[in-house]
Amino acid sequence: MASVKVTKVCCIGAGYVGGPTCAVIALKCPHIQVTIVDLNQARVDAWNSPDFDLPIYEPGLVDVVKQARGRNLFFSTDVDKGIQEADLIFVSVNTPTKKSGVGAGFAADLNYVELATRRIAAVAHSSKIVVEKSTVPCRTAESMRTILEANSRPGCRFDILSNPEFLAEGTAIADLFSPDRVLIGSLQSPEGKAACESLAEVYANWVPKERILTVGLWSSELSKLAANAMLAQRISSINALSAICEATGANIDEVAHAIGFDSRIGPKFLRASVGFGGSCFQKDILNLVYLSESLHLPQVAAYWRQVVEMNEYQKHRFSKTVVDTLFNTITGKHIAVLGFAFKADTGDTRESPAITLVRDFLSERAYVTIYDPKVDDVQIWLDLAEACPNVPLENIKKQVTIARSSLEACKNKEAVVIATEWKEFREIDWQTVYEHMNKPAFVFDGRMIVDADVLKKIGFKVKVIGRGDRL
Ligand code: NAD
Repeated sequence: MASVKVTKVCCIGAGYVGGPTCAVIALKCPHIQVTIVDLNQARVDAWNSPDFDLPIYEPGLVDVVKQARGRNLFFSTDVDKGIQEADLIFVSVNTPTKKSGVGAGFAADLNYVELATRRIAAVAHSSKIVVEKSTVPCRTAESMRTILEANSRPGCRFDILSNPEFLAEGTAIADLFSPDRVLIGSLQSPEGKAACESLAEVYANWVPKERILTVGLWSSELSKLAANAMLAQRISSINALSAICEATGANIDEVAHAIGFDSRIGPKFLRASVGFGGSCFQKDILNLVYLSESLHLPQVAAYWRQVVEMNEYQKHRFSKTVVDTLFNTITGKHIAVLGFAFKADTGDTRESPAITLVRDFLSERAYVTIYDPKVDDVQIWLDLAEACPNVPLENIKKQVTIARSSLEACKNKEAVVIATEWKEFREIDWQTVYEHMNKPAFVFDGRMIVDADVLKKIGFKVKVIGRGDRL
């Protein structure tokens, strides 16, 4: 069966994945019309804003949108029209973890995927290739196919592909320009293989052919969960070792360097920290846990659950270090938290370790001042209100202030906590900061970015995650 040449692409979901991914497709494939649709009017307006005040921050993204928008890249709230015009549709909607109901806490909430799929079935007049871009549990494509086939018009056929996204926030554009691999999963029928070829041809406009991997549908779905689980497991492993380092006087940097030299282990992703965050790692592992449990594999579920539990432990362990070091109480003390995003180069705060730290400090009745170069105030208040559901926001605001610079945040504080590895925090003028802080002045580095020796010479008391140094 011959593959269809794709000329019109629609992406349902203009978020962190759909937006950058399909903007890059538009840039690299000027012959393809790309329309990214979303129900969220404010988000679409931001994508269309005349001054390119885009709804998400990603280095290089504005340049991509500037080049393609209006040429062959469009953003719209007209979901139905987007679906009807396209021959290939990415489903890139959110798949959060269920917070309530049966299976709550583990199962992926596939409500948005289902609604988007039902919409495709309801309005499509012609055959479509439907591509799962969202991260979904293994065999979700089967449910999508059932919905599509049961509701489609005569003569409309739907081929389903899995094409999980491996970009990392903060480096999304670089990752999309030069991906380690593009993974496409399809049914092994002639129709499935032809659809797979159609999508592979789109990527082949800029991705070397040997990096486009084609596999079975279920392997593709599972590979995305597996990749995130393995990455998160590596972080939890190094963080578990960081606790041992702190207790023994070993240095996690040196340990990571030493073990990373083993070519079987390799040096990447071995940085100890206050914990991983972001919308994906925890959610995808919990997904894997749920899948394992539903397949009656309790030991497998327990194995992966431990990766998430280790991450929770690391965040609270760091908070406890702050409290213990500040003479076992932070009640009434003033703490600056530098960074609120879950990692550098993104404004995304989903599952950010900073949220847990601030919540811990507030529960110990400290005063907290937050500074982040990219997270706006509204987001910080939303996150704190969600993190402290039993505390009215006006009470949270009595304990928390938001600063406009590192120096402003640190003035008249007893302690500075580094929660995000922003480049500008590596370049802080610590001498000036020290002069403006209450004494003794403490720095708690949850991201291993300060030079502890330099800070100690200035007069700071310093604790760096994974270092066993005595103060
Ligand atoms: P997001 O919340 O930023 O964006 C999803 C968008 O989909 C929202 O703007 C929402 O309004 C829209 N939407 C939901 N239902 C819709 C519908 N029926 N019609 C139209 N629009 C609809 O989410 P995201 O971070 O872009 O993640 C999307 C998927 O990609 C998730 O499954 C996630 O796990 C996966 N993923 C995310 C990342 C990441 O780094 N954020 C990386 C790889 C994969």
